[in-house]
Amino acid sequence: MRTPFVAANWKMHKTVQEAIDYARNFVPLVASVSDVDIVLAPPFLALPALVEATEGSRVGVAAQNVSAEPNGAFTGEVSVGMLGAAGVTQVIIGHSERRQLYGETDAGVNAKTRAAIDAGLTPIVCVGETLDEREADRTFDVLDRQVGEGLAGLTPEQVAALVVAYEPVWAIGTGRVATPDQADTVHRHIREQLTSQFGDAAASGCRVIYGGSVKPANAMELMALADVDGALVGGASLDPASFAAIVTASRPSTT
Ligand code: PEP
Repeated sequence: MRTPFVAANWKMHKTVQEAIDYARNFVPLVASVSDVDIVLAPPFLALPALVEATEGSRVGVAAQNVSAEPNGAFTGEVSVGMLGAAGVTQVIIGHSERRQLYGETDAGVNAKTRAAIDAGLTPIVCVGETLDEREADRTFDVLDRQVGEGLAGLTPEQVAALVVAYEPVWAIGTGRVATPDQADTVHRHIREQLTSQFGDAAASGCRVIYGGSVKPANAMELMALADVDGALVGGASLDPASFAAIVTASRPSTT
């Protein structure tokens, strides 16, 4: 039985003060939820304040990106060590916006994932096909490559402990959510790929979460799918009540 994992990706939204105000509203809304792992991923600048504002709660704090390098002349970058020292516990790696806008590659995702694990951070590794790739019937090929290369060289234990986020690019920020059938098919495929690459224990421990226009209104039917272990939420996570409703819909007792 995998504990559902629900993460908010705020992208480039919210000042430090807005992040603190959000936490003050949000933490009480999920105070009674002990059966879902909940994570907020604000912009870098708000990480320390959010770690402080969520202290003593079950709400974790994630970065939206990280460098694979430990330190050095890498202007604008932030290392895994810096995140850990700030109290951050998870990190989103390989989000499609990073892949599409900043040229992130599968090899880069792999390097960041290894660096994060070595530093004791939980990676949330994002994979997903574009609309063109889906229409060309290449969804599984793309996912096999992203999962295969992104997680290459990890041990089964490391894979069991990380999170894979399936985010069809055509569903991110578009309001066009994958149907339960589409999500179910892809999540089962990813689980099979994990099994063949890392074995049964790794595949059954790894949380595979769905992202792409998840809202309170559609969360429950997606979360009810056997191989969907939670959600990565962009737009609908910016409002505390809306994100809390998605967390509630992800509880095992609900789904
Ligand atoms: C995301 O950016 O990871 C995401 C899923 O965004 P949205 O929920 O807005 O589609």
